[in-house]
Amino acid sequence: MISDGLALGHVVVHESRIVVTKLMADDPVHELRRLENGLTDLRLSLDEMLAHEQLSAAGEHRDVLEAYRMFAHDKGWERRLREAVQGGLTADASVERVLNNTRSRLMHQPDPFWRERQRDLDDLSDRLLRILAGRPGGPLEPAEMPPDTVLVARTMGPAELLDYDRTKLRGLVVEDGSPQSHVAIVAKALGIAAVARATGIVERASAGDAIIVDGVTGQVHLRPQPEVVSAYSDKARFRARRQKQYEALRDKPAITRDGLRINLQMNAGLIVDMPHLEESGADGIGLFRTELQFMLSRTFPRHARQLQTYKTVLDEAKGKPVVFRALDIGGDKVLPYLRQQKEENPAIGWRAIRMSLDRPALLRTQVRAFLHAASERELRLMIPMVSEAAEIDLVRAEVDKEIGIMLRKGIPPPKSLKLGAMVEVPSLLFELDGLLPKIDFVSIGSNDLLQFLFAADRTNARVGSRYDSLTIAPMRALGQLVNACARHKTPLTLCGEMAGRPLEAMALIGLGVRTLSMAPASVGPVKSMILALHSGAVQQIVERFVRDGKGSLRSELMRFAEQNGIEI
Ligand code: PEP
Ligand code: MG
Repeated sequence: MISDGLALGHVVVHESRIVVTKLMADDPVHELRRLENGLTDLRLSLDEMLAHEQLSAAGEHRDVLEAYRMFAHDKGWERRLREAVQGGLTADASVERVLNNTRSRLMHQPDPFWRERQRDLDDLSDRLLRILAGRPGGPLEPAEMPPDTVLVARTMGPAELLDYDRTKLRGLVVEDGSPQSHVAIVAKALGIAAVARATGIVERASAGDAIIVDGVTGQVHLRPQPEVVSAYSDKARFRARRQKQYEALRDKPAITRDGLRINLQMNAGLIVDMPHLEESGADGIGLFRTELQFMLSRTFPRHARQLQTYKTVLDEAKGKPVVFRALDIGGDKVLPYLRQQKEENPAIGWRAIRMSLDRPALLRTQVRAFLHAASERELRLMIPMVSEAAEIDLVRAEVDKEIGIMLRKGIPPPKSLKLGAMVEVPSLLFELDGLLPKIDFVSIGSNDLLQFLFAADRTNARVGSRYDSLTIAPMRALGQLVNACARHKTPLTLCGEMAGRPLEAMALIGLGVRTLSMAPASVGPVKSMILALHSGAVQQIVERFVRDGKGSLRSELMRFAEQNGIEI
């Protein structure tokens, strides 16, 4: 399973967005022929669509389609595409090149007419790319989606999931993926049930099939028998009742039976997540993944748009603390408009703070937007994928410079600024005494930290969940980190997926972690565990395990929970 929950719905088979990887043509004549054939197919498919629409549509709708079709026949577009291919690019790369060039010209046009043309060109280019890749079809229009859509895909990126109308999304089934992959995180944030590693599902499923997704057990029932449907309907009702119980805990602080207060925060990434802050009763936002806005956008969000988003987040948090994470682009988070060279190992490649430090304008724009959004308020800023303490100095210099500019312009800076580092690259574990004095807080990104500790790709279904996070190596690594933070009096949070799983959260409390940040839907179950927990007892078990245990702590903790009536 990758996202808890239960969905009874109908299948929509997802076609992946095309990422152009081959730029230069081996055989330009062949590429020109591919382009010509692609254009012909594109025009034919639009003619067909129009003929079909003629039966059902009239008036404005039809005019729009007609304009769109004319654009597909536009001689200027065709000429520019041909020229790009004649310049040595593949047909696919030419489509992207022409799109990007036109975009930079049209972007500055205030006239809505041109903005619409830009949208048409975006869409046409997507279609042409899919045709060139031999995969026509694409994300459905909201009207075409069943109201209880369950997406079925071979593989899916987080941005692609966000392309669908989320009011109609109930579930997701992918053939690869793992709980730590970003699509899983987005699925969780959207509150939809999701299951990974459903081998062969794309072959077997057809659009419109009835399907049940059980995110708890990881089971998928395609075209289920009536008895299965009825059993799951009961189960869904039971879950809804349990959800009500969690809701009743909303305003209760998370305090263990022996009086230890645990700070429960939630992870977010979009404005639409903000209502969850009140609904879940979380104490604040421990991780705001700013890259989600970038992944959703068709063009690079500039200063004004970023500023608006961060300001809205702070306004809607109504004084609860918010930790903004600087951009973590790269890895499996691809931006459609940012040309990136293909990397053999993107997760350990040019991503996150590495990219921001190499592209100072990127970092500067974001830092400026954070500082302005938090003018006269508190700003907590967290840096992802820090690999050495010196990277913090570079970020701090940039932040100080921007504050200086604000002061000179008479704009009030934030009333307090806290700069933190995510510990998700193991090298930092060996430089804690150098790092901790430079920062105001630490947040453990256990998803990446475990991936790098075990050298197990979090997006690869075969290895992503292979190693237990409650075994000796990760527990010792986390324990050392907790102790170092205590020595340096540096506040510590854990914001990876571990925090949201009650059994793991229990182990973390035993290790000494006092702030956990998780998907909003996990706050209830984790709080319910905490209210039943005696932290001193679990601390003893965990300390003994870290000192001289072996294997995994999981079964011992399960037994402990059972004996003490703690629901996991
Ligand atoms: C992590 O790595 O644990 C984390 C919280 O960041 P992300 O999942 O966005 O990489
Ligand atoms: Mg991470």
